[in-house]
Amino acid sequence: MDIRTIGIIGAGQMGSGIAQVCATAGYSVKLSDINAEQLNAAVAGITRNLDRQVSKGKCEPADRDAALSRIATGTSLDIHADCDLVIEAATESEELKRAIFKQLVPHLRPDAMVATNTSSISITRLAASTDRPEKFIGMHFMNPVPVMQLVEIIRGIATDESTFLSIRDLTAKLGKTAAIAEDFPAFIVNRILLPMINEAVYTLYEGVGGVEAIDTAMKLGANHPMGPLELADFIGLDTCLSIMQVLYEGLADSKYRPCPLLVKYVEAGWLGRKVGRGFYDYSGDMPRPTR
Ligand code: NAD
Repeated sequence: MDIRTIGIIGAGQMGSGIAQVCATAGYSVKLSDINAEQLNAAVAGITRNLDRQVSKGKCEPADRDAALSRIATGTSLDIHADCDLVIEAATESEELKRAIFKQLVPHLRPDAMVATNTSSISITRLAASTDRPEKFIGMHFMNPVPVMQLVEIIRGIATDESTFLSIRDLTAKLGKTAAIAEDFPAFIVNRILLPMINEAVYTLYEGVGGVEAIDTAMKLGANHPMGPLELADFIGLDTCLSIMQVLYEGLADSKYRPCPLLVKYVEAGWLGRKVGRGFYDYSGDMPRPTR
């Protein structure tokens, strides 16, 4: 299928990044969110990012203007009526995503494809909440989307070959590299990454080290560009917890039990960088460890 117009549902850190990358690659973008403030913040963030590219000489001012003019926003799902593909990037909750797909499909053209950016939830189960499981697929971008090279592509049991080929082709046109994963809880990247982050939270919970010691240890001791707690704040602690719950329930193995301290942070609303506090406090000039 010749994709020209891409809808994106959810204008948080991932949805806004996907919108930026699609618009920059020349696609017409329809970005929706239930929260109008989030839409304004997304457009402001994309504008800031492209301005930075212009000031570094990596993007022409005319290309920035053209990319921004290709992004339309709205708080209603009917803005996706003329989309060839809609990528869902709302909060990581199966119940919420299923409700979005139920509301979305009556607005879609019969031939439109639907992708989800879920980090962990079964593609087959999400597909079953639409009227088109054969045109449904997992397209898992990494954070921050404009910087990270990888897109995991995950077929559900019913995903047809033409949908898979269209999405693989789109991934390349967006300048990304695809890794194909099977539809198992959390796919490849998060199946490996999240248990490490969860273990880092246990290490903190059990007092083996403080926030700074744990992050320094993994940065300097394992050559990781970010420490695991810094990375957890960057991903969002609500998203981390949700992925661990999907692993724990989906694989029925106690080794995936979410750390109680991670649960506590999420219950406190300390969701990481996006709210200004997680394992670090981001209210000052420099992030300050909270434990
Ligand atoms: P986020 O909290 O930054 O953004 C979520 C957005 O969804 C918010 O703007 C919220 O208003 C919106 N939303 C909530 N309910 C909605 C609804 N009913 N309709 C429309 N919009 C709704 O979260 P995020 O980090 O952008 O994550 C979004 C998705 O991307 C999740 O599925 C997550 O697992 C996945 N993901 C996240 C990362 C990461 O590092 N954060 C990486 C890859 C994939």
